[in-house]
Amino acid sequence: MAVLLKPKHCLVLALFLFGCSLSAQVDELPRHPLEIKALTQPDEVLAEIPAAVAMSQQNRDVRTLALLYLAQANACRVVANWPCQRNAGNSAREAAVLAKDPVLEVRGLIADGRGSIAMQDFLRGERLLGEAELLLAKAPVPALIADVFLAYSSLSFNLNRFEASASYAQRGMDALPQGNALPTHIRLLRNLGRAQTQMQQTELAAQSLRKAQAFAVQINDPKLRAELYLESARLAHLMKDAATQTQSGLAVLRLADELKNSQLKGQAHEALGVAAMDRGDLRYAERELRFAHSSFNGLKLDRDELRVLRALIKLITDSKSVPPDFAATSRRQVDLSLTIEREDRAKAAADFEARLRFLTSESELKQLRLEAEAAKEREQLLLRNTRLAQLAALLVAITLAVVICFLVQLRRNKRLQEKLARIDPLTGIANRRQWDERLSFALARSKRQQLPLMLLVLDIDNFKTVNDTYGHSVGDAVIVEFARRIGLCVRESDLHARLGGDEFVVLVEDATSLDEGMTIANKMIKSMEEPMQIDTLSLLVTTSIGVGFQQQATSAEDILELADRALYAAKQAGRNTVRGLS
Ligand code: GH3
Ligand code: MG
Repeated sequence: MAVLLKPKHCLVLALFLFGCSLSAQVDELPRHPLEIKALTQPDEVLAEIPAAVAMSQQNRDVRTLALLYLAQANACRVVANWPCQRNAGNSAREAAVLAKDPVLEVRGLIADGRGSIAMQDFLRGERLLGEAELLLAKAPVPALIADVFLAYSSLSFNLNRFEASASYAQRGMDALPQGNALPTHIRLLRNLGRAQTQMQQTELAAQSLRKAQAFAVQINDPKLRAELYLESARLAHLMKDAATQTQSGLAVLRLADELKNSQLKGQAHEALGVAAMDRGDLRYAERELRFAHSSFNGLKLDRDELRVLRALIKLITDSKSVPPDFAATSRRQVDLSLTIEREDRAKAAADFEARLRFLTSESELKQLRLEAEAAKEREQLLLRNTRLAQLAALLVAITLAVVICFLVQLRRNKRLQEKLARIDPLTGIANRRQWDERLSFALARSKRQQLPLMLLVLDIDNFKTVNDTYGHSVGDAVIVEFARRIGLCVRESDLHARLGGDEFVVLVEDATSLDEGMTIANKMIKSMEEPMQIDTLSLLVTTSIGVGFQQQATSAEDILELADRALYAAKQAGRNTVRGLS
């Protein structure tokens, strides 16, 4: 098929190629040639390193020094010399700090951290990885971020936290751009598969390991290949596939010889021994396990040795013949168990103490200071907010109080106005309006209860003359005193009112006869006998009173008219007297 490249396609292609070269560039980490060589010839590299290091120190080339230490750390890792890896990583980091190269610094931290984790010093490992993470947060390098996740995955696995181990491995792969940092990608897949094996997810584990193996053929890293075979052997054991176990074990053995890695060699023999046990070849199994045992014993890898010893003892107990060194083997197993238990306990205590120390260390202090500052800020903000809220609440309260006072005052004023509207301003007694209301109430009540109704009408005699002789104000004073004296003659329940001018009325509640009204009226006449003292004046004031009484009340007009007619009669009779009508 002919392909026609148009300019547009060329542009896309150019961009694609540029993108590829860019991503490859971004991921290409600086490495010393010895580091590549360390993957296949670790012993030679370890022999070459001291001279190269001395040379760089002489030249004061700290960057090359850092790269050399990283190569050394890798060589140590390949031969499973963990203290060596840890120390080389630490040296690499120190040189990288002098070289002001954060990428190499992170690589040094990771190497040191991984070595520490392999030596079961999880506290140190975790702290170093945390420092690496901090540096990477400032200047991210995907391949190194993935490397940190890889180390966390291994750490979790060592602590039997398989789910976390798988999750870290997955996160590492997610952090890695496709097709980059292949060795790291393969290790992440190895860790994933290993964790999945432990979680009995055999299908997934097989898938992860297959993928890892497919990638592994693209790079020259025999140690990594051996590790993948080991994982395959473990998975095959779980799946009761003795053939694959044996094949994998043999492959690991080959690679271990090539690398002169005794730990790998021991692990290969262990895999072969377990495979032999699985297929029932107990003699072969015993031989392989004894090989494994002597490898681990020589390397002082106590945990590996104990694991193999346990398998060996189980094998011997299952078989019919007991070898002559059985007692010694058992003794060794017990001793190892005790040693490891003691170590673990000591480590747990040390870790605890280390954590306590760590608490007072600089970084923790810094963190505490930061937290204290943040807390102070929060507190101040809170205080400010609280003050604002309090002020707002106060304002609301004041406004509310003002509004309430205003409303109360308004109500009071209204009531006062209502009260005032029913009061005669001159005398302070009821006015015509109040009189009318009370009269209509009384009328309704007496109609309803068939009670009699009685009222008195009073009019000052010859009042005009007072006004005319002494003036209006003296007239007012007379009216006020007149009202006061009437008030003294009525009961609380009765109502006396000024209707206007010199005319007053009294409503007598609960009256039973006209005579009662006559008695009250005469009392009033009598109360006026005393002369009124107005300033220097002594005035004798009299009044005429008409009493109206209805046994059956009819209307306000009717009873008022009745009383008015009585008053008229009293006036006609010469004033200062009382007349009554019913
Ligand atoms: P009589 O004995 O027939 O009642 O004669 P009188 O002079 O009292 O006549 P009348 O009751 O008709 O007169 C009432 C007078 O009262 C008329 C008016 O000038 C006076 N007057 C009305 N209101 C007031 C007031 O508020 N103050 C004063 N000082 N005088 C008033
Ligand atoms: Mg009068």
